[in-house]
Amino acid sequence: MALIKKIHHQEVEGVRFGKYNLADNSTTVMYSLGNTIIDSGPPNQWKDVKNYLSGTNFKKVVLTHHHEDHSGNSAGISNYFDVPVFCHKFGIEPIRKGFPLKLYQKIFWGRPKKFDPLPMPDKIDAGNGHILKPIHTPGHSPDHVCFLEPEKKWLFTGDLYLATRPKLFRADEDLAGEIESLKTILTYDFTTIFCAHKGIVENGYGELQKKLSYFNDLVNKVREMNLNGETTLEITHKLFGKKDSAGMISFRHICFENLVKECLKVKAP
Ligand SMILES: [Zn+2]
Repeated sequence: MALIKKIHHQEVEGVRFGKYNLADNSTTVMYSLGNTIIDSGPPNQWKDVKNYLSGTNFKKVVLTHHHEDHSGNSAGISNYFDVPVFCHKFGIEPIRKGFPLKLYQKIFWGRPKKFDPLPMPDKIDAGNGHILKPIHTPGHSPDHVCFLEPEKKWLFTGDLYLATRPKLFRADEDLAGEIESLKTILTYDFTTIFCAHKGIVENGYGELQKKLSYFNDLVNKVREMNLNGETTLEITHKLFGKKDSAGMISFRHICFENLVKECLKVKAP
């Protein structure tokens, strides 16, 4: 596997890269708008990412967050193409110093080379008349940002969306933060979203609204079951079933039970 698929929405091109095309989240979509590339793809895809970028006229890269499948080729791109790579200030240190990876992450996406990114400006001139506004949306990771193109009402969502009713959660994700970020993002005016895994979602605003109410309902449900004396594992099995293959592959770094545990950390309204 390599360059799996190109997708288009008006002037936006998305390119899906990945070593194993098993599910949306095992591959990553890099987006291109004007002279700007959003995310730099998994590091084990460097050869194909380089080939793809060689055929474009990009001038800069902006990162949605530091996770290896999003920031992974920043060093390669910066060295080979001599262009700036920007990320949120909270992402600079992990990208500069490197960050721990689980075995499944090394197998699926590879280890990024260390790199010193530039701090994200308040707005990005993406060329062809497009301005992108970075919006800090922590939760999935502390440095997560979405990019809004206000004229077109487009939103590049990185890993904020992923699914309307997700069951899987990383051990280091912060659900309370993600709920706040969903509320923040829904105060902006947009329609189509560009998800780094799901691809183009035409009614993205509506799907993010649904995701927020799904989380709110889930938090209430889990809290109630817990008050009735059920353990997080029992709740997990009841709500999501016992077969959690991602949980097995990742040694529970990304699994159903993480989401249930996080629900109990969200403060009661
Ligand atoms: Zn991520």
